[in-house]
Amino acid sequence: MQRTKVKELLTGAEVGKEVLLKGWVRTKRGNKFVNFIAVNDGSTIQNLQVVADAEKFGDEALKDVTTGAAVSITGELVASQGKGQAFEVIANTIEVLGKADPETYPLQKKAHSLEFLREIAHLRFRTNTFGAVFRVRNTLAFAVHKFFNEKGFVYMHTPIITASDAEGAGEMFHVTNFDLDNLPRTEDGKINYEEDFFGKATNLTVSGQLEGELAAMAFSDIYTFGPTFRAENSNTARHLAEFWMIEPEMAFYDLKMNADLAEEFIKYIIRYALEHNREDIEFLGQRLVEEDKAKPQNERQEMTLLEKLEFVVSNNFERVTYTEAVEILMNSPAYKKKKFQYEVSWGIDLQSEHERYLVEKHFKKPVIVTDYPKDIKAFYMRLNDDGKTVAAMDILAPGIGEIVGGSQREERMEILVERMKSVGIHEEDLWWYLDTRRFGGCPHAGFGLGFERMVQFVTGMGNIRDVIPFPRTPKNAEF
Ligand code: ATP
Ligand code: MN
Repeated sequence: MQRTKVKELLTGAEVGKEVLLKGWVRTKRGNKFVNFIAVNDGSTIQNLQVVADAEKFGDEALKDVTTGAAVSITGELVASQGKGQAFEVIANTIEVLGKADPETYPLQKKAHSLEFLREIAHLRFRTNTFGAVFRVRNTLAFAVHKFFNEKGFVYMHTPIITASDAEGAGEMFHVTNFDLDNLPRTEDGKINYEEDFFGKATNLTVSGQLEGELAAMAFSDIYTFGPTFRAENSNTARHLAEFWMIEPEMAFYDLKMNADLAEEFIKYIIRYALEHNREDIEFLGQRLVEEDKAKPQNERQEMTLLEKLEFVVSNNFERVTYTEAVEILMNSPAYKKKKFQYEVSWGIDLQSEHERYLVEKHFKKPVIVTDYPKDIKAFYMRLNDDGKTVAAMDILAPGIGEIVGGSQREERMEILVERMKSVGIHEEDLWWYLDTRRFGGCPHAGFGLGFERMVQFVTGMGNIRDVIPFPRTPKNAEF
C-alpha cells in the first residue's frame, strides 16, 4: 500500500478507504477502551488522530507508542465523531519503526522555551512552532525563485570563496588550507599567501553583488540566492555569521525602478506565503498573542501577525529621502525628550532605534529610505548630482529594521575610480569589475534582501536564530 501524507489525508479525499500513514507520535492519551494517537509527519501543522482499540491491540503492542516515536499505521480513514478534527483513522495495524524513550526524549508535552529549543535544534523541527517556521521558510524560498523566474531573471550562482575583500573590510572569514601552527612567511615576516591553496588570500563572501553585476551586463536581469558570511561580532537578534541573501541586479534600472521592484517582490512572496501557509501563519500569530499577554500593554503588538502581513501587501510602502528621515527624527517627541541613545544629525548612519522609530512610531508601515550621505555607503553606489549623497535605498520593516539594502550603481568610470581611491581600494584588485564600466557599461541597479530577516518578518519570530535551521553566531557553531 502506498503511504499518504497527513496533509492529504486531512482533505478527506480517501474517506472510507484503507490508508497507510507514517510519522511521529506527538501525543497519546486514552482510557481502558480506546487510545488516541496524534501523528504528525511534517506535511502540515495539523496532527492526524489515530484511534486504537485497547482490546484489539493490548497494552504490549501500544507500550512503545510514545511521544516522539516513529510509527507506521494502517487503518480506515473516517469522518471523525470527536471535536477538533474532521477526519481520523481507525487503526488496523500499528508498527513502531523507531522508539523514543519517554525517560530521555527531551520534547515532552509541556511548552518549551525558544532558548531551550535552540540547544536541541536537531529536534526542534518536531515542535509546532518550528514546523510552522520552516514550512514558511520553504514557501518563501520557493516564491523567491517563482517571482524572478516569472519575470525572466536568470538565477546566477556567484562564488562563495572570493579573493576580493572590497566590501568586507575586516568582517570576513579567511579560507585557507594552511597548517595554522606552521605558517609560511615571507622574508619580512608576513604570511606568504602565495603558498596558500589559491595562491592568494581568500575569504568567504559577504555578498554576490559584484559578480552579479558582471552577469547583469549580459543577461539584463539576474538574481543570486545563496549563503553569505559576516564575521561581525554583533550578537543581536537580527545578525547571523552565516545567512542567506537574495541579490537581484538589473541593467537599465534606475533607483526608482529598483525600489519598485523590491516592493513588488516583498509583497509577492508574503502574499504567496499567506496563500500557501495560512494555518502555519495563524498558529505563529496565536503564539505571539500568547507571548504578548506577559508584556505590559504599551509593548504589545497593535496588529496580529496576519493583520500586519495583510496590511503590508495591500498598502504602498512609504518613501522618504535620508534627509527627510533625519528631519522627522529631529522633530520627533522621542528626540526632544532625549529618548534616543545615539545622536541624530545629518550624516549619521541611522541606528536601529532610529529605523524602528520611523517604521513603528512615525509611518507605521514599511519605509524605503533613499539618497544617503555618500560617506556612510559603499563605493559602488551612484553619486547624486548634489555631490553629497548617493542613489542608495534601504527598506525598513516594522519589528526588524533594515531588511533590504540596495542602490543604483555608479556606471561612470572616472567617478567610480575616484570613489575607490578615496576608500583605499586598488584598481588592480577590481580590474574585472571596472571592465564592465570600460566595455558596454550602462545604468544599472540592484539590492540585497536578507532572507532570514524576511522569514522573521513573516513568521513574527523575534530572534533570527529561530528562523534558520542551525544558526551560526559568535561562539556558536553546534550541529
Ligand atoms: P545591518 O546594518 O542591519 O547590519 P548591513 O547594512 O550590514 O545590515 P547589507 O550589507 O546592506 O547589510 O546587506 C543586505 C541585507 O542583508 C540587509 O539589508 C539585511 O537584510 C541582511 N543582513 C546583513 N547583515 C546580516 C547579518 N549579519 N545577518 C542576517 N542578515 C543580514
Ligand atoms: Mn545595508
